[in-house]
Amino acid sequence: MLKISDLHASVEEKSILNGVDLEINPGEVHAIMGPNGAGKSTLGYVLSGRDGYEVTGGDVKFEEQDLLDMEVEERASAGLFLAFQYPVEIPGVSNMEFMKESVNAIREQRGEEPLSAAEFLKKAKAACKQVQLPADFLKRGVNEGFSGGEKKRNEIMQMILLEPKLCILDESDSGLDIDALQVVADGVNSQRDGKRSFIVVTHYQRLLDYIKPDFVHILANGKIVKSGDASLAQQVEKEGYAFLGKAFEEAE
Ligand code: ADP
Ligand code: MG
Ligand code: MG
Repeated sequence: MLKISDLHASVEEKSILNGVDLEINPGEVHAIMGPNGAGKSTLGYVLSGRDGYEVTGGDVKFEEQDLLDMEVEERASAGLFLAFQYPVEIPGVSNMEFMKESVNAIREQRGEEPLSAAEFLKKAKAACKQVQLPADFLKRGVNEGFSGGEKKRNEIMQMILLEPKLCILDESDSGLDIDALQVVADGVNSQRDGKRSFIVVTHYQRLLDYIKPDFVHILANGKIVKSGDASLAQQVEKEGYAFLGKAFEEAE
């Protein structure tokens, strides 16, 4: 589904990604861990096509397409979803309007009929229920005055409605209480269907107790320095990154 080859990227002339290789097959959940400043968020932003992140080498294939050549909207309609680390507020635009526009824009690009207001409302209410947000959140301004946990629930609701092929969740456990964490994890788990894939960026092993990853990768200094199964996350939780020894020191 996704093949990242020798990806290099810079922000403001500073090299942040220094040769990332990663391959993700349909249905797989990959966790990315690593110390602060390793480039985890940058990787997500580069994949989503955010402004200011300059690709200086390598390539990324999403299904058969060259992801890095695609516009941001094309990436979304091709099935990429990035849950932003700091979800934006859009005061004055209701959650409902915003999501209906987003869903129908994607449907249009895929050549599908737009959902009617009634059809959308039904799906949106079900999604709210699934993430335990009261339905009146649909009427509120996008993220306006939402607590940290509510923003995260809202983000998962967006993911459920957009039905992406590949979801990138960044630090979805930061600042979450245990209930909200469980909601995020349940939301992700409910969307695992053997075809949809996930990249879950996290600092802590805690989230991975609920979302069982197929693979865990450690990113340090803009490179994946170690990959393994779920037990690698447990090892990080216990021992920190010291066990990476030479590979990690060199990366630093
Ligand atoms: P992580 O998510 O692993 O903590 P980031 O991808 O956020 O790491 O950041 C990687 C490095 O890139 C850090 O040193 C950070 O300061 C730098 N960086 C990220 N965004 C910018 C930016 N907009 N301007 C300058 N430096 C940036
Ligand atoms: Mg960070
Ligand atoms: Mg980050």
